[in-house]
Amino acid sequence: MQISTLIQAVRQIQAGDKRWVPAELLGPSYFGAEDQWQFIASNMSNMCPDCGSIDLDYYWGNELRGLFPYLDVVDLNTIYAHVHPNCRCVLARIGNVQEPDEPQQEPPKELPMQIAQYVPEGQTWKQALQNENLPETEYIDLVDGLYSFGYIVAAVANLLKKRRKNVEENKQDGN
Ligand SMILES: [Zn+2]
Ligand SMILES: [Zn+2]
Repeated sequence: MQISTLIQAVRQIQAGDKRWVPAELLGPSYFGAEDQWQFIASNMSNMCPDCGSIDLDYYWGNELRGLFPYLDVVDLNTIYAHVHPNCRCVLARIGNVQEPDEPQQEPPKELPMQIAQYVPEGQTWKQALQNENLPETEYIDLVDGLYSFGYIVAAVANLLKKRRKNVEENKQDGN
């Protein structure tokens, strides 16, 4: 690596947090190697295939600025990914800073019945969450099941419920 490239990289790291994090949210770490985030695709009509394809994928904090250069920190536990213009996809912190006591249980390898009943043969639970034909009450039941068995954290469950509501409202607006 050329020395000028190296200096530039160091400068970018030093400037990093100041550039991306609003002053009032400075303090906790967002982009550290221990910070873990999960991508929640918006599922809105303007969503691009790239966003849909990484729905619920996990990222380490130190990958974020490289992968999502236009990101915006919203609060301690939420980042707008801004993958494309008007992108409403978010990154949710795994290991909520405000609720550090959240139990970290290992989810069962085989899907429990409460979840499996909504997952069509040959699909994953992530794909089942994308199934727009699933009635709302069943969708909520699926999300609650994923949370209670430890597949997702509370913050992600809340965001998934909010997403469903947003998508429904978006449809009613006639697009
Ligand atoms: Zn996108
Ligand atoms: Zn997006």
